[in-house]
Amino acid sequence: MRMMKHIHVTGVVQGVGFRPFVYGLATRLDLHGWVCNTSAGVDIVIHGDDDRVRTFVESLSTEAPPLARIEQVSAWDEPGEEYPDFEIKESEKVDGAFQPVSPDVALCADCERELFDPNDRRYLYPFINCTNCGPRFTIIMDLPYDRPATTMADFPMCDQCRKEYEDPTDRRFHAQPVACPDCGPFVQFWESAEHPSSITRIDLRLSAILGARKLLREGRVAAIKGLGGFHLACDATNEKAVAELRRRKGRAGKPFAVMFADLNTVNQFCILGKDEMTLLNGYEKPIVLLNRRTGTKIAPSVAPQMDTLGVMLPYTPLHHLLVNQSDPILRREPAPPVLVMTSGNFSEEPIATENQDALERLGPLADAFLLHNRDIHIRCDDSVVRVDHRQNGRNNEGQQPEIIHLRRSRAYAPYPVSLPFDSVPSLAVGGELKNTFCLTRDRYAFLSHHIGDMENAEVYESFEQGVEHLNRLFRVKPELIAHDMHPGYFTTQYAERITDIPRVPVQHHHAHIAACMTDNGLTDRKVIGLSFDGTGYGTDGKIWGGEVLLASYADFERFAHLEYLPLPGGDSAIRHPWRIAVGYAHALGIEIDDLPFLQNIDKQAIKIVRQQVEKRLNAPLTSSMGRLFDAVASLIGIRSDVTYEAQAAIELEALSKPFLLTANVHSYSIEETQNGINIRLGDLLNAVVQDVRKNRPAGMIGARFHKTIVEMSIDICERARRRSNLNEVALSGGVWQNLILLNLVRDGLENEGFEVYFHKQVPTNDGGLALGQAAIANYQIKNGGLHVP
Ligand SMILES: [Zn+2]
Ligand SMILES: [Zn+2]
Repeated sequence: MRMMKHIHVTGVVQGVGFRPFVYGLATRLDLHGWVCNTSAGVDIVIHGDDDRVRTFVESLSTEAPPLARIEQVSAWDEPGEEYPDFEIKESEKVDGAFQPVSPDVALCADCERELFDPNDRRYLYPFINCTNCGPRFTIIMDLPYDRPATTMADFPMCDQCRKEYEDPTDRRFHAQPVACPDCGPFVQFWESAEHPSSITRIDLRLSAILGARKLLREGRVAAIKGLGGFHLACDATNEKAVAELRRRKGRAGKPFAVMFADLNTVNQFCILGKDEMTLLNGYEKPIVLLNRRTGTKIAPSVAPQMDTLGVMLPYTPLHHLLVNQSDPILRREPAPPVLVMTSGNFSEEPIATENQDALERLGPLADAFLLHNRDIHIRCDDSVVRVDHRQNGRNNEGQQPEIIHLRRSRAYAPYPVSLPFDSVPSLAVGGELKNTFCLTRDRYAFLSHHIGDMENAEVYESFEQGVEHLNRLFRVKPELIAHDMHPGYFTTQYAERITDIPRVPVQHHHAHIAACMTDNGLTDRKVIGLSFDGTGYGTDGKIWGGEVLLASYADFERFAHLEYLPLPGGDSAIRHPWRIAVGYAHALGIEIDDLPFLQNIDKQAIKIVRQQVEKRLNAPLTSSMGRLFDAVASLIGIRSDVTYEAQAAIELEALSKPFLLTANVHSYSIEETQNGINIRLGDLLNAVVQDVRKNRPAGMIGARFHKTIVEMSIDICERARRRSNLNEVALSGGVWQNLILLNLVRDGLENEGFEVYFHKQVPTNDGGLALGQAAIANYQIKNGGLHVP
């Protein structure tokens, strides 16, 4: 029997080698017809032996190329004229239709082989790519994804490249960024003097690479243009170089990411599990947090006080050329096998993407520039992840590692997250720190790349550009806008300026829980939400952050929270945990004058903090879990001041790890009131202070504190279950980046029979907030509960 079918495939199916795959599959099965890209997906007409047609339809999903993400394959019978062969037809444009865009993809193994093959015409060519790898999101200006709509439009293909581009059996068939040394972009090495105006162009192409390798070896700092922006690089084993980079960048303590030449080198410096290797080596190549080995040659300034290291492998051909240790030509200038690769910016500004901008802004930071002339259309930072070992334990062999996203950007954005219900075209603007925004249409939520901290004017500009670009790309004209309730957020003010569509303010911790629910595909229901983070605006105008909610997409009830304590000096206390410690202790009547951490702090400053607390002057009340960790870290003497958010808490976690097994739990008190449960902190902080007096090791005190918070969290969930009959718990908020807390709470809750949900696709920190805002606003507008201000 012969049959003829029309097939429509949706998902990420363009720019990922899907049509050549379809062509190959049809040819192999001896089927005739055609395949065509439309702006709504891929259309196929196929006819031939019916068994083979069935195999064909099945294989579309099961054998799809690695970068394709198949959402749906719909096939229907379509009798008609038969075709003499199988062909790939020209793209069709459907108005208003859209398509998920592939993120940027790390260099594939085939291209890497060619890159280092002296007989290949792209030998050592820094822009080699194919349908399975290379830039996508960062060079796309519009859809459908075709070369003229990318920043490769400036580079007409040479005859040889065009032949590959047009040959359906070639790996470069319709690879839009295809290029070679004859026709493609090239690198330049600019050696700068003190000032950018005196930068002189010294060399082109291969010698540019060699020049950069030499400069790095000599302990100097290079600005290197990457996929989604510039990096600042230096030898990660050269303390002088790294310390100098820190000084110039204005970045005191926050760890730098490093790039290793290869897995073997990583293994010498860090502890590498199977999942970590899979992740480092995959096509996403994010920065992966690894546990460090002790006594390695990594310069102390790379990641001070950290037991982890943010590690990545080279993901562009240019990176490979910089760190490669074996190619005979490159070895003429030996290069360090480990480089600091930190974002090319000053302090909290956005990373530079344009050459001229980089020369100006990074001029004072870099000794030289490795530039190229392929434009970056949209900025995209490196993603940061860690392996979620606990979820992997339950996985089958051979599955992709489950990961915890700390920053979801390059190689992940803008893959959509599936919504558990239909949406209207909408925009959720996200939070203030670690901002991402989210666009929805149909069942897609397009969570943006990492934007950054909005109080910086350039970051805000980058936010506006990003919103505009993604609206255009995904054909979204928002009919609904969601934002945080905080009146002072720049994102809130942005939303308030849009007056012609309904606007939905969403409470911060409610948004976190909804983000976790959406992330896990939960449909309409109520869960117990443990929303633990640093700061979020509460419905009572106070600063929330240690919240137990009974929450659904529709609304939430505040079931329990940490007791309110004063934050002396408000937000500025975040940088000075000692002030939080002194303020909390003073408010709770705990005597701490004899504790060692106070001995180095100005007596007058302590007095002012205590007065602020007594007179309630500039000491807003907070129930923040993050601040509780800061206070405890300070009481223990780990750190009185921090240079980045959560630094003290991160160090507390690292110190506590070795003591977990032997640490016991402090008592704590829970007060049931008319307005819900108030978790009192006096007993707990008193116990911490006693431990300090007894000279217990900091790690032991930290471990006991962690375990008490764990026990308390489980206790509260049981009370919530008794009250509400709910058995599902969602964990969200930045505090859950603390793996001790995360893992012990998950274990404990599951032992008590709870179903526990944690993030898989988006960050638990404020980088995932916009997804929750979008879900809540859309749910409310669908179900008539929308109250428009
Ligand atoms: Zn490739
Ligand atoms: Zn060419």
